[in-house]
Amino acid sequence: MPDCTFCKIVQGELPSSKIFEDEDILAFLDITPINPGHTLIIPKLHYDDLRDMSDPLIGRLFSAAAELAPAICRGVGAKDFNLGMNNGMDAGQVVFHAHAHIMPRFPDDGLELWSGKKYAEGEQERVHEKIMKEMK
Ligand code: 5GP
Ligand code: ZN
Repeated sequence: MPDCTFCKIVQGELPSSKIFEDEDILAFLDITPINPGHTLIIPKLHYDDLRDMSDPLIGRLFSAAAELAPAICRGVGAKDFNLGMNNGMDAGQVVFHAHAHIMPRFPDDGLELWSGKKYAEGEQERVHEKIMKEMK
């Protein structure tokens, strides 16, 4: 995939601080971490986002994330972590090579997740119905 930063990292054309690598998966430190130890875990082959990946590869990516997270947290002295994935521009994805973020968290680190909205009267039921119509 031409001009993909993460493909270049996989190929060794760009440097990275690697945490883990096997034949399918690579994990390395994010260059602009939300906290020290913020790690990106990616499939080595190029997929734009989660929707393009096979079920086994998705399983491998997230099971590897679960395996790596405790060591990453221990390494930076964090107890807990967020695991997240941005899929598509509207969701804040900036690098269009599928990746999940393992983000160590500290008490009072000043980071917020999302602020929840409230449903209007009856909206939750309507949304639920519409989603259920799309479920195959
Ligand atoms: P996204 O918003 O696409 O989920 O996040 C992309 C992440 O990739 C960002 O957190 C950004 O700091 C990280 N990133 C972008 N370019 C590079 C790079 O060249 N090397 C590393 N290690 N991380 C990068
Ligand atoms: Zn790529």
